[in-house]
Amino acid sequence: MTTQKINIKNLLLFAVIFIIVTVSNLFPQKKEILIPKTSQQVIYGKITDQNGKPLIAQVQVWYYPLTKVVMAFGDKKVDGRTDNLIQMKYSTKDGYYSVKVPADTIVLIITKGPEWLLVKEKLVIREKEFNGIEYNVSLKRLYDLSKLGWFSGDAHHHSIYSDGHQDPSEIAHAMKGVGLSWGMLTDHNSDTGKKEWLGNKTQDFIPIAGCEISTEASTTSIENGYGHLNQAFIEKMNGKNVGNPNIWARAIFDDSKDVQNMIDLTHQQNGLIAVNHPFQAWDWAGRYKSWGKVKNLDAIEVWNGEPPHSFTYNDWDTAHTNINTLAVHSWFSYLNEGNKISGIAGSDCHDIYGTTSYPKGEHYWTITTGNPRTYAYCGKLSESNIKSAIKKGNLFLTSNFGPLLLFTINGETPGDVLKATRDGKIKIGVNVLANQQLLKSEDGVRIIYNGKIIKKFTTDTSYTYRDSTTIIMDKDGWILAEAFGQWPMYSITNPVFIDVPPYGDFIKNKWADPVEATKWNQFRQHPEINLLNGPTSWKDTKDSAINIKTKQQHN
Ligand SMILES: [Zn+2]
Ligand SMILES: [Zn+2]
Repeated sequence: MTTQKINIKNLLLFAVIFIIVTVSNLFPQKKEILIPKTSQQVIYGKITDQNGKPLIAQVQVWYYPLTKVVMAFGDKKVDGRTDNLIQMKYSTKDGYYSVKVPADTIVLIITKGPEWLLVKEKLVIREKEFNGIEYNVSLKRLYDLSKLGWFSGDAHHHSIYSDGHQDPSEIAHAMKGVGLSWGMLTDHNSDTGKKEWLGNKTQDFIPIAGCEISTEASTTSIENGYGHLNQAFIEKMNGKNVGNPNIWARAIFDDSKDVQNMIDLTHQQNGLIAVNHPFQAWDWAGRYKSWGKVKNLDAIEVWNGEPPHSFTYNDWDTAHTNINTLAVHSWFSYLNEGNKISGIAGSDCHDIYGTTSYPKGEHYWTITTGNPRTYAYCGKLSESNIKSAIKKGNLFLTSNFGPLLLFTINGETPGDVLKATRDGKIKIGVNVLANQQLLKSEDGVRIIYNGKIIKKFTTDTSYTYRDSTTIIMDKDGWILAEAFGQWPMYSITNPVFIDVPPYGDFIKNKWADPVEATKWNQFRQHPEINLLNGPTSWKDTKDSAINIKTKQQHN
């Protein structure tokens, strides 16, 4: 066959496709899609922005309604989970996607993160011969935080270079898909993926080199190990035995001095160090147990996977306090001692398609790339500005579904130190921006001062909420905000530090440990809780269909 003939054939094929696409667009899409149970039919289409520019975005397909299942984590069985995620995909850089669907009622979610319009639609797919449904989407950008200097990223991610399931380039594509501007690759005791990872740098995406040091398997520690720590912005990884070909044998620590040594080595190469998932429930070795025995941590991962104040708790915890709530409390205790330590969020994603995540597919919540995410106030996007923002705590944390939470005190952003005037009067401002209805609640927004709620704002089902309040400060402290939307929408900021006269006596130059911190190293000990879990109405919305549209949104 000559080249010319092939071209004519291609041309004809193109014409046929063009006619099919054009004709199919003349008729409104049918609500009930007919797909035989045994077939592997697809929903396919193109995702663009409002100007027709192709977008990388995330496509999720869930069963509807959610049904409760029993899930196994090792020998442990957990009742009442909703492992109902069918498929997750990312569109190509040209905006194209296709996703297999069963003959069932499904919810299709198309998302590019909290700054973009969210598609969340119920579709009934019936058993009958069918050739797939074309579902094109124009996603509107509702908010552009980069214009205000805020850029979101994922501070915790795994690849095939430890126990993750994708290579660094696939992960970078997924991160761009969910609207992130930066990401850290933090494989367990390994930086083998670093070169490939850093090769994904573009004008609007900054890959950052990191490593998750695990300290388990020590025979002399209190309960087997000292937990996991993330190094970031590093030239080289550190560990006890970095040359060992078995990555799991690289980081056996004898005692908390080895943990301190790790922190110091990270700082020597101008890197940052964070404590990861400090109250992890399922893996005892994953828990951090050097509280009060080491100093100079840069950050605590207060949000690993599911939101603070949500569902997962330790088996032994009769109070059923969420594991990330405990992490938030340990952070508050360190802040109360006058430490300037940042709170960060990391997905700890091991699978960008969500099929092997933990917990998998919980109430339309899946641990996947950028869920949760850390917003850093950078001004201009650059690696050094991201690093400085994380170090200073110019941060707020949110889920893939938002809400965005802009918080100021007398115009200062989180992480800043505000010198209050002599009368101690300060003005606190909150601006909540969402792509779904917020929560109808009397405590949809909470203002927390030195670990205690001092003010609540009533939110309703609109998409945005803005308010301010004036309070009088009579002593030094820190103030931050939390916002709750419909499940799983949650957001928490880092604090603004308030210095009232006499000035300069609040933020300590030297690290100070909370008195009770060493207690937390013991099994079944954790920070004293004085902050309530989230509003009940928040968790009650977890299976809610309120934000699921049944009307067609696509063009
Ligand atoms: Zn870990
Ligand atoms: Zn991890």
